[in-house]
Amino acid sequence: MGVVVIGAGVAGLVAAVVLARRGIDTLVLEAASRARVESRPRAGLLGPAAVDALERNGLADGLRAEGAPHHNCEFRHRRRAFVVEYARHAGGHHHVVYPQQKLVADLVAAYLAAGGVIEFGVTDVMLDALTSDHPAVSFVTADGQRQTVESRFIAGCDGHHGVSRGSIPEGALRHIRQRDSAWAWLAVLAAVTPSTDKIIYGVSPRGFAGHMLRDHRTSRFYLQVEATADAADWPAERIWEELHARLAVDADWQLAEGPLLEPPNVITMDSVFYEPMRFGRLILAGDAARRVPPAAAKGAGLAIVDGETLALAVAAALHDADERPLNAYSEVCLGRAWLAQEASTKLLQLVNVELADPFARRLQDVRLDRLRTSPVAAAEFADHYLSPR
Ligand code: FAD
Repeated sequence: MGVVVIGAGVAGLVAAVVLARRGIDTLVLEAASRARVESRPRAGLLGPAAVDALERNGLADGLRAEGAPHHNCEFRHRRRAFVVEYARHAGGHHHVVYPQQKLVADLVAAYLAAGGVIEFGVTDVMLDALTSDHPAVSFVTADGQRQTVESRFIAGCDGHHGVSRGSIPEGALRHIRQRDSAWAWLAVLAAVTPSTDKIIYGVSPRGFAGHMLRDHRTSRFYLQVEATADAADWPAERIWEELHARLAVDADWQLAEGPLLEPPNVITMDSVFYEPMRFGRLILAGDAARRVPPAAAKGAGLAIVDGETLALAVAAALHDADERPLNAYSEVCLGRAWLAQEASTKLLQLVNVELADPFARRLQDVRLDRLRTSPVAAAEFADHYLSPR
């Protein structure tokens, strides 16, 4: 086997398609069922680097057909709305909104069409001999058979809680962790047509509220909550009441309500990087190598581009005995990921409200006023918001 890819998320599937299309024998192992990975809602907003990577690899048909290009976003502050035309400040670069589960379904189809093999529903995945020329993965198939596969490389693309990173000996990677934030975001997915055609970042004296878009029937919302908050304390009525209050604006605008599609979820704002993104013949990609909070919507985009970079580096090693791209892999991916982290940190400083700190709130007012009035501030926002490009 050329490569065993652990995890059929966006990182693993992009890597697997690119490898399979280059004639490299590839096996993808996924813990969840196919139905689950193709229906699990998470990301929606994809930046230009991710869209370009999908286009380059002929994986953007669904996104082009159904995705919605986004050029502007809206802020609400002191009940006043203002729009930042960020694409105008960034040479036309923009986002596309396309639900992650639809992208995953497109990628599964593309990988199978390229002759790739996926084992869904595997359990007890174990990695071995990572520093040898023939690392091995053993796993139990959905029908209970234990199998062991040797390969030339293993791609660890199994997200933040997967087994790949945990198979690396203690001390081999640096953990670089951000101090814990006092705030988390309550993530809410509702079956309701978005009440806006652009993302809204609402900054109110009660805290932040975000209105994101997924498709014409589905909206995602976020509410700033304490990091210790319990989602069970947030029934639907309380969520809608808070969204109405925090997104309120002195204009003729109504927030439409709809049934929640899944229980709300508390998302912490902590960030952590594991460096380098490689140990022997195991190469990490996407969330397996880091956690960037979803605030600035960077994780899926980074994972897509990591997946492509990993596959091209492994293909160079296998086809041309050229290990230089593989040796540069970690630095290249980390450079992009830290840019995304900086953007995420800046966005959180802009929108999360330090409820008990009047000093911080006055500074936040100044930042938002500058963003509203200064083209330089808007251009800087655009640069972060769309990075890495
Ligand atoms: P994952 O998507 O987590 O995929 C990992 C896969 O590995 C999964 O299918 C999992 O089942 C599988 N797996 C795990 N353990 C094992 C194992 N032991 N064996 C085999 N398989 C295993 N990002 C954006 O860019 N834009 C957004 O708008 C955005 N919004 C978000 C909203 C929310 C509410 C959340 C939670 C995240 C959001 N993100 C967003 C982040 C984005 O979803 C993640 O960064 C992205 O899913 C990472 O992709 P990945 O392929 O690295 O990992």
